[in-house]
Amino acid sequence: MPSGRLNAVTVCPWKLRAWFNGYQVVKRVASGQIIASVKVNTPHTRPPAGLAAGTSKRIIEYRNRRSLAVLAYAHVTVCRHGAILRSGFPDPKSRFMTNEIQQVVVDHPDDENYTCGPRCAADRQRSKIAESALEKYRESCAQCEPK
Ligand SMILES: [Zn+2]
Ligand SMILES: [Zn+2]
Repeated sequence: MPSGRLNAVTVCPWKLRAWFNGYQVVKRVASGQIIASVKVNTPHTRPPAGLAAGTSKRIIEYRNRRSLAVLAYAHVTVCRHGAILRSGFPDPKSRFMTNEIQQVVVDHPDDENYTCGPRCAADRQRSKIAESALEKYRESCAQCEPK
């Protein structure tokens, strides 16, 4: 992890997802502007509900290719073929800015009726709209995630 001297703030996960999708991190990884590397790989001893055996939880680090500055950390559930399951996209958990680290609150429900504050619903909508422009980068595995 980068320097612990940065000020850490807790934010709504939709705020981070809105940034992550709006900045098109997955597209920038595909084009090589951002480097994604696996920092932690934890095989599930038993598969999560609805998923085949052999899945892992991974923590991915994103760095700017030029400056090598860390931009974000995200979590993914990956199948044994290497595809991202569930949403098909990484779920950002931390964003590293010049003078602060934004970290998502751990107990924020995904329930559409839940809002944690005045910006929550607007950020969720921003995130969904930005995500729809990234549809071709969405991953899935028909074998490991039977519909
Ligand atoms: Zn929220
Ligand atoms: Zn698979």
